[in-house]
Amino acid sequence: MTQEQLRDYLRFYQDLGFQSLYRRGDVAVPEFVMPAQPPKRTAIPPLTPPEKLLTVLPSLSHDGDTMQRIREDIGDCQRCRLSKGRNKIVFGSGNESSPLVFVGEGPGADEDAQGLPFVGRAGQLLTQMIEGTSSKEGIPIKRPDVYICNVVKCRPPENRTPEADEMATCGQFLFRQLLAIKPKAICALGSTAAKAVLGTKDGVMKLRGNWQKWRDIPVMVTYHPSYLLRPYNQNAKREAWEDLKKVLHFVYD
Ligand code: URA
Repeated sequence: MTQEQLRDYLRFYQDLGFQSLYRRGDVAVPEFVMPAQPPKRTAIPPLTPPEKLLTVLPSLSHDGDTMQRIREDIGDCQRCRLSKGRNKIVFGSGNESSPLVFVGEGPGADEDAQGLPFVGRAGQLLTQMIEGTSSKEGIPIKRPDVYICNVVKCRPPENRTPEADEMATCGQFLFRQLLAIKPKAICALGSTAAKAVLGTKDGVMKLRGNWQKWRDIPVMVTYHPSYLLRPYNQNAKREAWEDLKKVLHFVYD
């Protein structure tokens, strides 16, 4: 395993909420070996010798994971406080085998009511951006050809920014969606999406316009459509169109 693969591997488990991993030797250990009896603490030394390892972590590849399975695992989710105020879980929409995935922040009022992402004003602008840019650039795609989802799947109260623990809890499903789709590129809309996908503190201004990476997948960060709706952001609008052009040509040329 190369250093980069190892780093990705560790980051993957961190994304899933594991804070510590223990090294084991080169012995074959069956998956999910759990003790028949709850172990007595005193009988078990720290997890150093391989034969004392109680749990083998699931494989990195998530082989066989499907969007349906992910949706089923989310279920009627009550894992975080956002569940209290939601009407509908907004899982995502579009082509589940798309080479291009857009990631937004979280549902607003319209999305919460319909259970679909980006269906309000920001959504209309996103549709216009995707379809307008594609058509101008001679790329024959429409909005349903891409996949669109959010970092959190329930509407935050008064559309506030999702908090770190909410993003961590819901992020595991976003990562599974991205791993199941395996797109050619991801477009992160706004700083919250950038932070969740890339694990960075840098904002859009710093990241936009240049390719970043999540695992091996190129990520373009650009402005969130809600930001572009503000009348004084004309320059940002032009930049977002440039970003999108780059993404669409990279994915569809
Ligand atoms: N803003 C988002 O980030 N996502 C939506 O689905 C709608 C608005």
